[in-house]
Amino acid sequence: MTSDSTSHVGSAQTAAHIAQVERYAAHNYHPLPVVLSHGEGAWVTDVDGKRYLDCLAGYSALNFGHGHPRLLARAHDQLSRLTLTSRAFHNDQLGPFSQALAELTGKDMVLPMNTGAEAVETALKVSRRWGYRVKGVPEDQANIIVMEGNFHGRTTTIISFSDDKVARDEYGPYTPGFRTVTYGDVESLRQAVDEFTVAVLLEPIQGEGGVVIPPEGYLRAVRQICDEAGVLMLADEIQSGLARTGRTFACEHEDVVPDIYVMGKALGGGLYPVSAIATNREILEVITPGSHGSTFGGNPLAAAIGHEVVTMLSEGEFQARATELGSLLSELLTPLVRTGHGNGLSGIRVRGLWAGLDIEPGGPSGREVSERLMRRGVLAKDTHGSTIRIAPPLVITADEVGMLVDAVADALERP
Ligand SMILES: *Cc1c(COP(=O)(O)O)cnc(C)c1O
Repeated sequence: MTSDSTSHVGSAQTAAHIAQVERYAAHNYHPLPVVLSHGEGAWVTDVDGKRYLDCLAGYSALNFGHGHPRLLARAHDQLSRLTLTSRAFHNDQLGPFSQALAELTGKDMVLPMNTGAEAVETALKVSRRWGYRVKGVPEDQANIIVMEGNFHGRTTTIISFSDDKVARDEYGPYTPGFRTVTYGDVESLRQAVDEFTVAVLLEPIQGEGGVVIPPEGYLRAVRQICDEAGVLMLADEIQSGLARTGRTFACEHEDVVPDIYVMGKALGGGLYPVSAIATNREILEVITPGSHGSTFGGNPLAAAIGHEVVTMLSEGEFQARATELGSLLSELLTPLVRTGHGNGLSGIRVRGLWAGLDIEPGGPSGREVSERLMRRGVLAKDTHGSTIRIAPPLVITADEVGMLVDAVADALERP
């Protein structure tokens, strides 16, 4: 078979898959036209056998890469023993997982859920209840402060405080009780806090916002404002946490410890949805039997996989890789920051193996650059029109980081 006929057959197969998904599945995404069937480490393969470097890593759900042998072994073992009990009964995996995750976070206790949005909802519910029972806020008067440009998930309450019109429009009436302040602006937060404020919810780095890193000292200032006002600091580390930025949690870059860690994505190792909050006993004890829960949250398969993830994180190897390869990524990307040539970046933001690349005005759109990268064997996705987000699995090698940057440089120049 010539390479020509291979690519012809391939195109037809890819087109058929895409037509089928468009015919039978809701159009709530606009994927790149690639149909993947295999993954291993930092690489994925499409139905035609073409390989791509995965530089999105499931929005950081795949920090350990596709099919990490330790995670697969643990999952296979647990799959054949016990997968679901509901929380009506105990299972032998939840205790060890909970203890390991509490120890990793330095908190007393955890509450396991499945998706990120559910963990955020859990943090919001715990905060409101803590406000009424512990802080003494009058019933139904609690407010929670959130950030402009936030992304915390897709539930009705969470989109109620999103400022992304596409995510929010025509889903009202919206859940009240949220106030939005400018991300990174300490004064804006200080002014918004009042005696009925129970929590401040923020991403230590805004992922969907385009890897937006707040000014140095901001997280410490948020911590201080929360301490002074008796307000809970909720860190949504669903995308920024679990080694992505070179630390277990992005808050550690400012030596800040939030009251509640919100975790998801990589907690399930890319195999399974696993999320959780971690906090101290005096906060979590407001949750009583029946007042919150989930059929699947804390199930033995999730707990076994989550426990292996926590063990891997406690060894520090992935954090070290993210730091080391992240500085290489930053160094290699820096020469691409140049304006006025029509083929550069107007700015980059890099923290660990996580980068937001702003395409210079007048250059190709983010979507166009993503498609060009795809043709060069690199998968990444645009956000907000002209930003490309780079978040490869942390198992990527130094050579592969070089390939990735070469592909970006080339894709900025020509189709
Ligand atoms: C992805 C994400 C969520 C939502 O997680 P889901 O598993 O998609 O519900 C929440 N917060 C942040 C910061 C995220 O990146």
